[in-house]
Amino acid sequence: MTLVVDDVRLAHAPDRRVSVVCDGGRIVAIEAAGTVPDGGADTEHLDGRGALALPGLVDAHAHVDKTLYSGPWVPTPSLGTVSERIARERRERERFGLPREEYISALVERMVANGTTRIRTHTDVDPGVGLRGIETVARVAERYRDVVTIEQVAFPQGGLISNPGTLELLEQAVALGVPTIGGIDPAVVDRAPTVQLDALFDLAARTGCGIDIHLHEDGSLGAWEFEEIATRTIAYGMAGRVVISHAFGIAHPPTQERLIARLAEAGVALATAAVYDVPVPPLLALDAAGVPLACGSDGIRDLWGPFGDGDMLRRAMLVAYRNSVRTDEGLELALRAATTGGAGVLGVQDHGLDVGCVADLVLVDARNAAEAVASVPPRRVVVSRGRVVAMDGTLTAKV
Ligand SMILES: [Zn+2]
Repeated sequence: MTLVVDDVRLAHAPDRRVSVVCDGGRIVAIEAAGTVPDGGADTEHLDGRGALALPGLVDAHAHVDKTLYSGPWVPTPSLGTVSERIARERRERERFGLPREEYISALVERMVANGTTRIRTHTDVDPGVGLRGIETVARVAERYRDVVTIEQVAFPQGGLISNPGTLELLEQAVALGVPTIGGIDPAVVDRAPTVQLDALFDLAARTGCGIDIHLHEDGSLGAWEFEEIATRTIAYGMAGRVVISHAFGIAHPPTQERLIARLAEAGVALATAAVYDVPVPPLLALDAAGVPLACGSDGIRDLWGPFGDGDMLRRAMLVAYRNSVRTDEGLELALRAATTGGAGVLGVQDHGLDVGCVADLVLVDARNAAEAVASVPPRRVVVSRGRVVAMDGTLTAKV
């Protein structure tokens, strides 16, 4: 079936009305609006009514395995340290039956209805939960594979070196096909920073997987860890396959400029969620230096906190807002981090509104990309792989 999305304006060229022709799951042509012939019974036409078309939204940092979405409301206690919150989650997750396929599925449907067509999610792996989270998320990913691509990071939330057996589980996850391994605060959580980083990079070298490491550590400690990661990325020839998530340590002068240059040199990307009042990586300076930038929801309604709705257009707004962005250029940059830029960080180059790209489009009422980020309009239509999968905030695709 061919889908022609008639009369839309592309986010990067909003002054021109066009029709986007999708076939075989890809964009095969972009023509002036009103010039694409009917095409007969095998062609479906969708009237975009002048909407702005955004590329499919990319959530490059989620934790869907932890979610309580569609489940009970669980009050979150006052925030403690990261280590205290990890310990609480370890205690409570069994009580709520996490990870739970029903909650993950409900969340994934919400994310798609909000326009997300690609997700990287960090799934807890430790001797307590074993690979149950990986297997549960994999089942959900398989069920929704025609509407959204979900890839996992095997994530040692409870520590890698300090939690014996976790490294072996990461290796087993990779053997099952998980493409990326995670790390977490090598100093504060593991108290063995170089040991954790060496273990991650050695495993990546042995198996060919990528690395996406959570770094909440700040100040001179965080800055030192950035250097250690950059040095290993170069030494192991892993440019383009290492991501630092959250990256609080790069948010402050005076080391910021040096660290940005070092990440650009090493080919390390950043993923930010800009949640709560945490330090945020500087969007404009990173882009100017050529550091690839993605963004993601982080946790959505889970034992870590009550917020989140899987809306990556709202996340782009929050990233811009937390960066004190006011210019159209800055707003467009935030949208890029939530679409094509985010996809690039995940190693996907054929994501966008060009001929040859995967046909993922999100239609909204906005005059241009900057207004879409600033105003976060409802998603009128979501097209994934050349098929309409959601309309007016509801999943319509059969899965
Ligand atoms: Zn995270």
